[in-house]
Amino acid sequence: MNTLSHLECSRCLKRFDKGLPHNLCECGGPLLVRYDLGKARDNWNRDWLQRAPSTMWRYAPVLPVSRPENIVSLGEGFTPLLRSRRTAARIGARDLWIKDEGMNPTGSFKARGLSCAVSMAVELGIKKLAIPSAGNAASAMAAYAASAGLEAHIFMPRDVPQSNYIECKAYGAHVTLVDGLISDCAKIVAERKDGEGWFDVSTLKEPYRIEGKKTMGYELAEQFQWALPDVIFYPTGGGVGLIGMWKAFQEMETLGWISSKRPRMIAVQAEGCQPVVRAFNEKTERSEFWQEAQTLASGLRVPKPLGDFLILEAVRFSEGCAIAVSDEELLNAGVQLATDDGLFVAPEGAACVAALEKLLASGFLKPEEKIVIYNTGCGLKYLEAYSTRFPRQSGGEEGKLGGLITPR
Ligand SMILES: *Cc1c(COP(=O)(O)O)cnc(C)c1O
Ligand SMILES: [Zn+2]
Repeated sequence: MNTLSHLECSRCLKRFDKGLPHNLCECGGPLLVRYDLGKARDNWNRDWLQRAPSTMWRYAPVLPVSRPENIVSLGEGFTPLLRSRRTAARIGARDLWIKDEGMNPTGSFKARGLSCAVSMAVELGIKKLAIPSAGNAASAMAAYAASAGLEAHIFMPRDVPQSNYIECKAYGAHVTLVDGLISDCAKIVAERKDGEGWFDVSTLKEPYRIEGKKTMGYELAEQFQWALPDVIFYPTGGGVGLIGMWKAFQEMETLGWISSKRPRMIAVQAEGCQPVVRAFNEKTERSEFWQEAQTLASGLRVPKPLGDFLILEAVRFSEGCAIAVSDEELLNAGVQLATDDGLFVAPEGAACVAALEKLLASGFLKPEEKIVIYNTGCGLKYLEAYSTRFPRQSGGEEGKLGGLITPR
């Protein structure tokens, strides 16, 4: 069963028909997918999930694909929700959980969005996909495009983590390294897509990635027996996951699955690129382009998120906040988390741990609150970043190996 109804502009509320490829509304607003939730409510209920697949496609009735054979899946979603004990004790939180998205195909939660987007490309007959990416979205798109037999054209910063570059090449994508940021990559895709016949899969310019990412919200509710936590920490680049989860909460309330209680949403950014934090502090509706964005948490290096107003709306409505941490703080937090809890997380996920420490110390959060941190990627994808913490010694056994692995 599928209950997709139509698409709707998030700014001017204009309606768009399903069954056709869409990017942004003429007004510049991202499109949101709408379902006939009344029909979903009548024909589907939570108990069905006991027999559903152990992937994000268990929520298929509220996902946009209408024919199951179009689903392109590599096993994404249904990731572990782990209780942290030792980190929790160290920082003074009594009920701390980590949703480990690093377990997804291609090692990040981008798999959810791209599984959905590529499935919809198949359903809509699109053959050539193009994406500007800070790294992990590129890897995920390359993998799903390979699985679906579609062409993938990838534009990412030249200094993207090595893992992302190698993955994309291995998946057979057409890769262009750009001297610049994701915003520069986006310009190139926008300029060339019509001439080349590419469909633009940019964050929020493509309406279905957010649908894949919203499954993190459904899953969290299911894993906590349909009671959402008090607080959610989300490492925010384009903010798709945060916007998606916020949308999922609304949908689940309409379905009668959860109450109207919402977690406080905490948007975490890096000091070297914090447009959402600045807008939050200055109480503006939109963010401003962050000049000379720089952070080794590459997924957070998004100088001007297209959906900034949606991120800020969720953060403000939920009485959460937006907060930035330095690269040094987030790397330290990442290493400490690995040492304490055996979880080697992406720098983006580690940023949330550093931010949580600050908000507990300041009294913004109370020790007894139920807190969930999204670790959005696997630490193994960021060996260059973590290598700065563990330089190899010369001499001895390591020295011999060091001769083969040239330090930068
Ligand atoms: C893309 C990415 C983010 C940011 O995600 P958004 O939903 O775009 O805010 C965070 N962490 C990692 C590992 C990412 O790849
Ligand atoms: Zn519009």
